[in-house]
Amino acid sequence: MAEPRSGIRGTTGVLAILGHPVGHSRSPQIHNAAFAAQGLDLVYVAHDVPPALLPPAVAGLRALGVRGANITVPHKQAVIPLLDDVDDLARRVGAVNTIVNRDSRLWGTNTDVSGFLGAVEHAWGRSPSGARCLVLGAGGAGRAVVAALVGAGADRVYLYNRTPERALDLCRAAAGWGAVPCRTVSLEEAVQLGPEVELIVNATSVGLGEGVKETPIPVDMVTRRHLVMDLVYGAEPTSLVAAARKRGAIGLDGREMLVRQAAAAYELWTGRKAPIDVMRDQVMRG
Ligand code: NAP
Repeated sequence: MAEPRSGIRGTTGVLAILGHPVGHSRSPQIHNAAFAAQGLDLVYVAHDVPPALLPPAVAGLRALGVRGANITVPHKQAVIPLLDDVDDLARRVGAVNTIVNRDSRLWGTNTDVSGFLGAVEHAWGRSPSGARCLVLGAGGAGRAVVAALVGAGADRVYLYNRTPERALDLCRAAAGWGAVPCRTVSLEEAVQLGPEVELIVNATSVGLGEGVKETPIPVDMVTRRHLVMDLVYGAEPTSLVAAARKRGAIGLDGREMLVRQAAAAYELWTGRKAPIDVMRDQVMRG
């Protein structure tokens, strides 16, 4: 007969990730390794929740006293009306990726924003304050990146999106978030901006999975003075990150951001400083 999983007791607190699909998620490894490293009586599990079952699943978090949760694709927007409270940051981004259960009230926030900033600072040794930035993508991740850059006091943000109306909507929203100018650009303009910008962020899904050889911009616009951050991550660097490194730029894939958004959620759930090296080790080992 199989042994029961060691460490799980009647007192063990539960955390969860809800997504669809969710089997590929690294979050259970990241958080369970961190709980073990700090000797916490907590366990983190993944639930594949189809969209139609999101409302009862969220009600279930409350009913079962689940301590907190991560929310991933495709539920980050749809979860908002199901929560008791959502902070200003998550409202601004229009997406919740982290829930904390506070006395049976579910509070939602977005740790992708601080995760992005933490990753940039880790790679660059400074914040993007005062930086001229080119952002590619105006989906959920693009909104988190633009919110982060506005909050950090970037010099300006140029925004390209395949569907221009979505970029326009995001720049209009960003105008209400702070004094950082946000201007939409075509792909041709984005390429011409190469010499002007310092930080280039891919927040599109180009380069994901089978498309790992595709890049959202022509790579010959990248020079050694750029930090190129690709939110996409996988077992191997995306073509954008590989080309950036080859051209002498700092090329950073989405794994450090993944670690940092997880660490921020962990700190909200546990009230402890996250063991970031343990978490990074789980992500970097592939
Ligand atoms: P999303 O809301 O579905 O948005 C997708 C974005 O990609 C949109 O801007 C879309 O443009 C663009 N896009 C998709 N296919 C494209 C193509 N063939 N050519 C040009 N643009 C294309 O997704 P998301 O939540 O923003 O996520 C975007 C990426 O960020 C994903 O790869 C996700 O895994 C990654 N991400 C990473 C982290 C991390 O921690 N590292 C966190 C969040 C997200 P349209 O508007 O024209 O459709």
